[in-house]
Amino acid sequence: MVESIIALGTNLGDRAGNLRRAIGMIGRKMSLVKASSVYETGPMYYEDQDWFLNCVVAAETELRPRALLQGLQAMEMQLGRRRTVRYGPRVIDLDILFYGNEVVSEPGLEIPHPKIAERPFVLVPLNEIRPDLVHPVLGRRTSELLGNLKLGGEQVIKRPGLLAGLIS
Ligand code: ADP
Ligand code: MG
Repeated sequence: MVESIIALGTNLGDRAGNLRRAIGMIGRKMSLVKASSVYETGPMYYEDQDWFLNCVVAAETELRPRALLQGLQAMEMQLGRRRTVRYGPRVIDLDILFYGNEVVSEPGLEIPHPKIAERPFVLVPLNEIRPDLVHPVLGRRTSELLGNLKLGGEQVIKRPGLLAGLIS
């Protein structure tokens, strides 16, 4: 079994419900270990869209990285994701941040996810559950990556009530 860290994001429809359903689906395919709090975050890259809810989960799996990606993409489809503009509104986005400490670089699959170090909406929840995880390419702990982030006024607001106790 390998521990993978998955980032979830949603800014369309019933956002909390989307996270709850996605985590439920992940839990039927993998063995959930830990979930961060949920954060409400301002959009990056394409700013004319609604705010997101983001969280990260740690889950153990026997699936190899490519099969894991396919499984997550099938869940995105089942939850009603339709691909439109890059970085645009989505019902659910499921990204593989880490797969143990393996490094994967293939067409359509990069692990660790290449944008971790620039994304407060990933680093803040990740730091809650895995502050000491060392990024296998950058050689830095999550807490260091977060400390090094030059924040440009991005909003990442903890919403403690949302999904509390979803997994123990
Ligand atoms: P984004 O997550 O960048 O907003 P998408 O969810 O549409 O956009 O993903 C675009 C592509 O990113 C996917 O088709 C997938 O093949 C690729 N991809 C590469 N590395 C990863 C990863 N670590 N996790 C998830 N998707 C990945
Ligand atoms: Mg994605």
